[in-house]
Amino acid sequence: MVYLCGSTNFFIKDILLGEYMNKKIVELTKKFCLSASLLAIVVFSSLSSAQNRLAIEEVKDGLHMITGPGGNIGVRLTSAGVILIDDKFPQDFDEIQSLVASVSDLPVRYVINTHHHGDHSGSNAGFLPIAEVIAHKNARENMIRGNQDGLPRIIYNDETSVFLGGVEVQVYHMGRGHTNGDSVVYFPDLKTVHGGDLLHGIAPFIDYGNGGSSRGWVGTMNNILSLDFDTAIPGHGTIMNRRDVLSFRNQMEAVRDHMANLIRNGLNADDAPDEIRDRNLSWTQAENGLFMQRSIPGFFEEISAEIE
Ligand SMILES: [Zn+2]
Repeated sequence: MVYLCGSTNFFIKDILLGEYMNKKIVELTKKFCLSASLLAIVVFSSLSSAQNRLAIEEVKDGLHMITGPGGNIGVRLTSAGVILIDDKFPQDFDEIQSLVASVSDLPVRYVINTHHHGDHSGSNAGFLPIAEVIAHKNARENMIRGNQDGLPRIIYNDETSVFLGGVEVQVYHMGRGHTNGDSVVYFPDLKTVHGGDLLHGIAPFIDYGNGGSSRGWVGTMNNILSLDFDTAIPGHGTIMNRRDVLSFRNQMEAVRDHMANLIRNGLNADDAPDEIRDRNLSWTQAENGLFMQRSIPGFFEEISAEIE
């Protein structure tokens, strides 16, 4: 149907936008395609592709990752049920359940939210009737402030663990970073962590409106690196190894140093988005990355306050 409409580029872009896909396709169809029967075909195709947006891959024996729009989901299998790390958007609930069923006969028993953002906690309301949802206490408060559905019934302060089917999953709040309520989930038997959005494949978002901090982030990264792991699932992007995590930490420190030097040399806030660009710092080169798109004003303020 894409070829019939002659709007392949629009279509692919809209698939990436996920949530608005159906609406947009109808709009685009009205714009580019005139026949009513074609409209029916397009809507039908968009619905079927909406149900196949996600994919599942094995990370290690007993641990899978669900990818696709929204945060990466960790799927930890045990002999007594499944533990999920994050649960994407509300509309993903059914597809998450069917992908879990493709790797386990057992139900989801626990969902651990790495933080409150809706692309990581969106299916909480779907899971709450059948599973316990756990998050850091600040993440729950952020959800309440944002009027989000699906509040976790269980919160923790510094660390907690889930014991299920002979498996221990450890959950740590290691300090501020992406938000003030980030959890790092550690699978000690697999030497693997799920870092939520504390780890990002392209460039991170420092959510200053919800207690994010680049200074806190460096300390939190040091704490993550104190764990014994060789594999890491980032909130977005592909699987990382320990060296990737170390270089993420080092880039956080490097962009902080770079911003501090610019400010010492008289940088003002308006010039920060242009002046921060540095060809050695990939985050500042990612035009559409969340570091450049959403973090710079708060980052400028944070570093300015530090060097006053
Ligand atoms: Zn996030």
